[in-house]
Amino acid sequence: MSSEGSHTCSGLSYPAGTIGLVPTLPPSEPAPPEDIARLAELRGLLTAANSAYYENDAPTVPDATYDAWVREAESLEARYPLLDDPESPTKRVSGTPVAAFSPVAHVIPMMSLDNAFDFRELDAWAERAVRGLGGVAVPAFACELKFDGLAMSIRYERGRLVRAATRGDGRVGEDVTANVRTIASVPHTLPAGAPAVLEVRGEVFMPVAVFADLNAAQEAAGKPRYANPRNTAAGSLRQKNPAVTASRELAFFAYGLGEVAGAPEITAHSGALEVLRSLGLPVNDELRVVDDLEAVKAYITHRVEHRHDLAYEIDGVVIKIDDLAQQRVLGSTSRAPKWAIAYKFPPEEKTTRLRAIHVSIGGKGKATPFAELEPVFVGGSTVGMATLHNEDQVRLKDVRPGDLVIVRKAGDVIPEVLGPVLAERPADSRPWVFPAFCSCPLQSPLVREGSDAAHYCPHAECPFQLAGWIEHFAGRSAMDIEGFGEQRVRIFCELGLLRDIGDVYAIDWDRVRALEGFGDTSIRNLQSAIDGSKSRSLGRLLIGLNIRHLGDAGAEWLATGFGHLDRLIAANEDQLGSVPGIGPVIAKSVAAYFCDERHLAIIDKLRAAGVNFVGPEPVEPSSHILSGKSVVVTGTLVGFTREEAESAIKSRGGKSPGSVSKSTTAVVVGDSPGASKLTKAESLGVPVLDEAAFVHLLDTGELPG
Ligand code: NAD
Repeated sequence: MSSEGSHTCSGLSYPAGTIGLVPTLPPSEPAPPEDIARLAELRGLLTAANSAYYENDAPTVPDATYDAWVREAESLEARYPLLDDPESPTKRVSGTPVAAFSPVAHVIPMMSLDNAFDFRELDAWAERAVRGLGGVAVPAFACELKFDGLAMSIRYERGRLVRAATRGDGRVGEDVTANVRTIASVPHTLPAGAPAVLEVRGEVFMPVAVFADLNAAQEAAGKPRYANPRNTAAGSLRQKNPAVTASRELAFFAYGLGEVAGAPEITAHSGALEVLRSLGLPVNDELRVVDDLEAVKAYITHRVEHRHDLAYEIDGVVIKIDDLAQQRVLGSTSRAPKWAIAYKFPPEEKTTRLRAIHVSIGGKGKATPFAELEPVFVGGSTVGMATLHNEDQVRLKDVRPGDLVIVRKAGDVIPEVLGPVLAERPADSRPWVFPAFCSCPLQSPLVREGSDAAHYCPHAECPFQLAGWIEHFAGRSAMDIEGFGEQRVRIFCELGLLRDIGDVYAIDWDRVRALEGFGDTSIRNLQSAIDGSKSRSLGRLLIGLNIRHLGDAGAEWLATGFGHLDRLIAANEDQLGSVPGIGPVIAKSVAAYFCDERHLAIIDKLRAAGVNFVGPEPVEPSSHILSGKSVVVTGTLVGFTREEAESAIKSRGGKSPGSVSKSTTAVVVGDSPGASKLTKAESLGVPVLDEAAFVHLLDTGELPG
């Protein structure tokens, strides 16, 4: 059935005009003054937190604290109905639209979601729903991911994108049309047959890979790191200059409808999403429709376990009653629909006390400040330490010893101190000052050169530096010596068994045998791991040499470009800089490294031990049909190993980098591809090729038509 005129797509719309209604008050026990004061305090705290979070995109407390305040306020309001207030932050959709953007009135309000934090609360929600339906069972639940971004309403009229607006306070949002137009996955036009009016509701978010790149660039530029992808996405979207938004590579998933006119009748929420998908809107593939709560719980359990397998962040699962007629019967409160619930995952941000700031000395002498924290369980593990990166980051975050700080740990991502809770700062707190000297027995002055944000201990003899270097040399990204971790390396350094990395291959094993904890078997295993490392590739050896500014990719380029360590040592700065990908900073640093007699003495020890100095055969382009093209390969192909695929691209003059960006020509996808590469390709609109299309590209230099 085709609808006429403007109407709402029933069930996916929300009843307007319920915000601000004064409820009929049941008899209430009088509240003691301390509860009245506490409720007022909580409302004040929530209002301030809302403003920081929604208007400035810069939260001042972790979500878990915010959620705990909401629950405490809700329980006081439930206990003392006389104190209830429709204007309470617990009763409203939070977020005041800011004046910098034109206001957009939402014909169908944009709502929040009620939360469940465990299965008991999920059961209670389902029971309430069945009661609200007069005892009728719910035949189907739609389970979706809860994307951690910001809600967006995108309006199409006669198939053309005409307006995009933030949620704002739910009734009035901010006009961000120009910014949303820059999001690659949001179509500007819909195919013929699209409804006359279609308001798509969904979430704008920042993929984790984009967030990581952005933070790396911030740090390199001496600018503050961003706290998390959610607030960064919100800040990136609410920019006056759409070019800034465009540079942030945001993405979008549609999960519902607002106003709709001229559409066929839809009876299920999942059906609505199918319609959106058929119109070319990005709908997430993880949507599942299940028929009972047990299956809902299985979906949640799976998602909790695989939360970090995704290329974007989620903070829960949203469960929606699928049948739109049932949704209509249940309706909404002033803040949230009763037919949906957000099952929130355990928090990845917590507060804890920053006990002290120390400085660690790494392999290249880099002096890195780190936070010693009161241990806190967050993001699946207990965190007691977190890097603070460098002096500038400590200053920009203004974290001080004694502060209560917000700590974030998302899955296996390195824990990060986001910033202090200023309201809790001790009165006598003082800014932290970077130490002038290394704390090792040599007490070398720590230096910071030019525009580099890092401090260094310039003395290669520094015992802290030595152990850090050898650990790095033996580490996975370099010579990968199994069983030669931090503890053993430190013991060997302290005993004087190792004075540089060259000594790794000339350890006095008789002295090791005398040490406690070193039996014949463990010594044999370590000896064979050390021996085995001699044949590692030249690229890995270069990484292990610890040359300042030289990363993994640069090491590979130099190894391929020169083919032998001796040719690399003999090269001057210009020759080094002529290798594609090697800039003047790396060239200068590499040349300086090999001018240092101490380093050459180490190289001699490595040579005497028989460590491999030979690089891979340089790939000479046999043709140039892929010149200027950048082709990323992910997953397992049938006819090529990964190396063969990459060298097939390079031998035709193309590039084959490890990550997808706006300038990627195509992504070749085999079996079990990397989820982040695929999602990024989709969000950036980069063509995705199967193996046959890849072969066509290699043969012709053209993407298949
Ligand atoms: P919410 O984020 O908990 O849930 C509602 C939102 O979920 C919707 O508006 C929508 O944007 C989003 N969403 C994502 N995937 C969805 C899907 N598949 N279907 C439907 N909606 C989906 O609620 P809220 O009102 O936006 O914010 C409240 C939450 O925000 C709090 O629980 C807290 O975690 C956080 N918050 C934190 C602070 C702070 O100071 N740290 C302040 C305010 C809010």
